[in-house]
Amino acid sequence: MAETNENVWAPWRMEYIEQLGDRDGDEGCFLCRYRDNPADDQQNHVLWRSEHVLVLLNRFPYTNGHLLVAPTAHLGDIETVPEPVLIELALRLRDAKRVLQQVVFAHGYNIGMNLGRCAGAGLPDHVHWHIVPRWRGDTNFMAVTGGVRIIPQSLDAVDERFRRVAEQLGLPATP
Ligand SMILES: [Zn+2]
Repeated sequence: MAETNENVWAPWRMEYIEQLGDRDGDEGCFLCRYRDNPADDQQNHVLWRSEHVLVLLNRFPYTNGHLLVAPTAHLGDIETVPEPVLIELALRLRDAKRVLQQVVFAHGYNIGMNLGRCAGAGLPDHVHWHIVPRWRGDTNFMAVTGGVRIIPQSLDAVDERFRRVAEQLGLPATP
């Protein structure tokens, strides 16, 4: 399959994916629900949590290993996130990318956030970064499959491998 330089960041797809993620039996914010239920971290695929930051697998991944990194506080705009939290978010983005590389062996990454519904945010009231692993040629594949691939068996596999690699790298889940 030929490589492509096509612009592949597709926020409209993210919106669809996040709406799905937000529609599993609770009207409220799924990030706040996950934050408030640490006992469910395994089933919610919350990989790391600290007082200020959650790192979790997107349950409806755009590609294998698609992560979300969010402040625990329900804040809708990056401008309202306190500076120490922004720093911790950046450190977690770095750590997550480091672990993920040894889990999925991606050729590249998209790391970004959608602010506001017109920008593709499906959960506009709780800011979060996306980390999306990319492989050469994956745009062609996604065009064929219509953009959304729901692969729960690989979610569990990625979850398990992420936790193991994180432990090996000295970056275990924080209580
Ligand atoms: Zn929230």
